[in-house]
Formats: sequence, structure tokens, C-alpha cells
Amino acid sequence: MTQNASPLDFIRQIVTDDLASDKHGGRVATRFPPEPNGYLHIGHAKSICLNFGVAREFAGQCNLRFDDTNPLREDDEFVDAIQQDVQWLGFEWAGEVKNASDYFEQLYDYAETLISSGLAYVCDLSAEQIREYRGTLTTPGRDSPYRDRSVEENLALFRRMRAGEFKDGSRVLRAKIDMASPNVNMRDPTLYRIRHVSHQRTADAWCIYPMYDYTHCLSDAIEGVTHSLCTLEFADHRPLYDWILDVLPTPCHPQQIEFSRLNLEYTVMSKRLLNLLVTQNYVSGWDDPRMPTISGLRRRGFTAASIREFCARIGVTKKDNVIEMGVLENVVREDLDREAPRAMAVLDPIKLVVDNYPDDLVEEMEAVNHPNRPELGVRTVPFSRELWIERSDFLVNPPKKFHRLGPGREVRLRYGYVVQYASHVENDDGEVTEIHCTYDPQTRGGNTPDGRKVRGTIHWVSAEHAAQAEVRLYDRLFSVPSPGAAVANDSSEAALNEILNPQSLVTVNAAMVEPGLRALEAEARVQFERQGYFCIDRFDSSPERLVFNRTVTLRDSWAKLEKEQKSKSA
Ligand code: ATP
Ligand code: MG
Repeated sequence: MTQNASPLDFIRQIVTDDLASDKHGGRVATRFPPEPNGYLHIGHAKSICLNFGVAREFAGQCNLRFDDTNPLREDDEFVDAIQQDVQWLGFEWAGEVKNASDYFEQLYDYAETLISSGLAYVCDLSAEQIREYRGTLTTPGRDSPYRDRSVEENLALFRRMRAGEFKDGSRVLRAKIDMASPNVNMRDPTLYRIRHVSHQRTADAWCIYPMYDYTHCLSDAIEGVTHSLCTLEFADHRPLYDWILDVLPTPCHPQQIEFSRLNLEYTVMSKRLLNLLVTQNYVSGWDDPRMPTISGLRRRGFTAASIREFCARIGVTKKDNVIEMGVLENVVREDLDREAPRAMAVLDPIKLVVDNYPDDLVEEMEAVNHPNRPELGVRTVPFSRELWIERSDFLVNPPKKFHRLGPGREVRLRYGYVVQYASHVENDDGEVTEIHCTYDPQTRGGNTPDGRKVRGTIHWVSAEHAAQAEVRLYDRLFSVPSPGAAVANDSSEAALNEILNPQSLVTVNAAMVEPGLRALEAEARVQFERQGYFCIDRFDSSPERLVFNRTVTLRDSWAKLEKEQKSKSA
């Protein structure tokens, strides 16, 4: 791993120091706490690699804990997908999966303890009144008229809340801290609200549900977490995190440490927007290969190793920034360049007839599977009289620098023969429909024993033997670098259509690929020479009907576009 060589990030430095000073009795325990209200995305991957990575590197443990305190937005489909994604990324949680709801009873007891200590009260203000009493960043809040209820009254009311005697929204339990605090999070925050809804795990056992801030710190403490790693927006919540753990007799006091969240150009990370893309059918589902979700990236052909490497490269800091999409695309390009065997595929086929090649002859031509890795061996591809080549590899009037096929030109068929243009056929519209050539039997394997130079090499497949495939050419889902900002105030259909890339999916229905690719297994990855990296779609492909997804092009074509754009606007 590259991490060992580079200096420790600030969080690993803190953990190292804490171990040296024996702060948590030599233990390291972290947790990854997703809310099961959507699929995990590449931003979560950063948090996963950090939490599970720290635990692994420091011989600690990391829990997977569902933050399931909001019964309205949560779903079992998400619970299953999240577990699968964490495992696919290569991590293992300690023991059983945990749920914040496992602690509802304990959390309730702690709430009674707070009330008994005079540190929490039942408040009858409406949500709107609470907001109004809270004040603003520049003005202090005002005390609720219910703030000075007696302990007995509060306990009685809280128990009746739990018993279901009150309507949703009629009362809440609040911490009694300081309505004049410069930190609004400390102005008597709500700890419990009434919600007469059934919960996916606790069913109808509860009609009061604890708030995130109250639940999170206590769940951490109950699980013996040592370092509670979260994103920067929780920095202002840390005083509340610490206050709750200070005033309650919890088994330990974890340390909350904030780091900056991952932002990525040309995509969105907000679960609200991702959910919108799915429910409004802009994409085929949460695992659509254009989605920044882990399951989408997986289906697109990203390896788990490339996602972990991406997270290692972007590092962990406290500075907010936006990572270029090119960084993510580059890690997978590098990974696949190393790992993916090569193959030939013709995406826009046109017939090439080798006039002087025997009608009934089929030769098995030897092709190397990887140019730099001889250990990946060789395969054979059938060569015959009629071949498919790429339509764009032939021009009737080629410019001088076009080193492919055209009248008077010679070109090398990769692993095949050198062929010489003979003639071509056009239809009534002047479109080329077929090309004829002759081959030089001396050039088997593409060699020229007479030493003559052949500048161009093109790929091909034998028409008779080719496997037909559907190829899905995926590109970035959005055409603007900051789609989230563009629809922050208006995520209407019109606003979304404005920023979606209309070319994000181009489907090639009848590509022609090497017959050997029929044997590929789901998710197998391959480089189509001169085209890019592709993988077998894990759900839609079968030996009868191959479906390939383009993971990434061979080169970063967006970098060039962006450079042009910049020089134009400069
Ligand atoms: P929301 O609150 O909108 O539902 P969330 O991003 O907070 O979404 P959670 O499921 O609560 O989603 O996130 C689980 C964990 O992943 C949290 O600890 C969170 O800090 C972390 N996380 C979420 N998004 C990112 C991101 N973009 N970069 C790094 N960590 C992230
Ligand atoms: Mg959240």
C-alpha cells in the first residue's frame, strides 16, 4: 500500500499519539454509521476507507452501525445494499451489524437520567415556536416558558410521551443547556420527538424517536468507540457531543474528529439528488453505471482496489476541496491498464473482403493478451476472408496523415496480415457499404519480411466467427463541473435537463467482438484495443447476448475539452 510510504494524515497521527499516551487503554475502535436512506456513494467510500483503514492499520476494530433513527426515510433495500458495498470494497466489520435502534431502551434510560438531573425538560412549544425562540447566529435565544418544569412533572410527561398519549409534534424533550450560547446547537437542542410511525426494526414499540445528535454520541460510547470520525459540518455539533457524554455516566468518552468531505466534479453526492435521479428515471437505478454510487461504479467496471487507491490518493485533511473527475478516472485507467487483458472489438462495423484469401480457409492467429505481461499468455483469433473493421478506419479521400485504409493505402491488420486497398462499394447515397482489399501472404502476424514500412495498424474480427454484443458507452452524467450548485435552489425537471449530459449513455446495439469473449464471466474486464476499458455487465449479459459497459476511455478526452474551453474563455 502506498500509505505506508507517505506521512501519516492528521487523524492517523492523532491515533498514533493516543496509542503512545495510552489514552484509550491502548484500544482503537471506529465505526462507519450510514443512514439507510440511499445507496453508498464514492463520498462514503472515503469515510469507509478511513474508518475501516484506521482500525485495520492500528489493530483495532470498526463497527458498521446503521443510523436508523428516522423511520420515515429508511428501507431494507438500502440496508442490504450498504452491507454488500462495504464487503465488496474489501472491509469487514467487527461482530454483528449494529443499529442505533438496538440502543433505544438505553437511550431512553439516559434521557430519564438527564431529566432527573435537571438537565432535560419536556417542552410544549410548536416546532415553529422553537425555531423562533432559538434566536439567530447574531441574537441570543429566549428561554422556553416550559423550561422550569419540575423534575417530577418532566418525568411524568416524558413517560406519557413514550406511552403514546400525545400527538405528533405536540411536545418534545429538550436538553437544558444555554439559550444564550453563541453556538445554536447548544440552545436547548431537541433530544426526542413524537412520531407515531412504525420503524423497520422496532416496529411499533416506540412512538418517540431520539434525535441524531443525542443518539450518535451515546451509540459511540455504548460501543466503546475511541475515535468518532465525521465530516466537517459536525464540528459545530462537537460541543453538544461532548456535553451529553460529560453529563451522563457513559462507559467511555469517544473523541469526535472532523475531516473534509469528498466533493467530486461533474457529479452530485447529495442523497436527495441521487434519489431524485433514480425515482424520476433519469438513470436506470441506484446502480446505474453513471451514478457515483459504489454499486454504480462497480457495475461500470471499477475495481474495489481502484476505489481504495483513489481514497488513498485524495488523502484526509480538514480542507474543503473539489476533486477533479479525472483523478477518479485515472486510477481505474491505471489499474485496468495493468490488469485487463486485451481484445479486439469493432463498435461500428463495416465489411472488409480480402479478395485473394481462400474462401474456405480459416487461420488461427496468435494474439498476446497483454503487451507488458507475458505471464498473461496468448490466445488465438480466427482470420477469414470476410472481416469486420471500424467504419472510421476507412476514408475515400484520406488526408495525408491518416495512417489507416483508403484508396492506394496499405494497412496492418493487428495480429493478421498487411492488406492493400483494392476497391470499395457505395450505396445510392454515396455511403461506403463494403471495402475490398488483397493480402500479402508473406506478412502473417503483421510482419514485413521485405522491411517495408506500414504506418497504420487497425483492429478487426472475422465476420463469420464474431460474437455480436451490445456495448454501452458511458460518459459523465452531468455536463457541468458543479451540478449540485446548479440545482441547489431549483431541482425541477427543466433545471436538471439543463445540466445532464445528453451523451452520458450511447448504446451500440450490434458491435462485433472476438468470439473468445463469449466465455467471459460477469464483471470480467477487458481492454478493447484502441477503444477503452470495458466490462461484462453483471446483470444483463449472457453468452447468447453479450453486454459490455465502457468503464473509461483510453485517454482523458475531457481534459482536452476543458483545456480548449479554458483557452477560449481566457
Ligand atoms: P444525508 O445526511 O444527506 O442523508 P450523509 O452524507 O450524511 O447524507 P450518511 O449515511 O449519514 O450520509 O453518511 C454516513 C457516513 O459517511 C457519515 O459519517 C458521513 O460523514 C460520511 N460521508 C457522507 N458523505 C461523505 C462525503 N462526501 N465524504 C466523506 N464522508 C462522507
Ligand atoms: Mg447523515
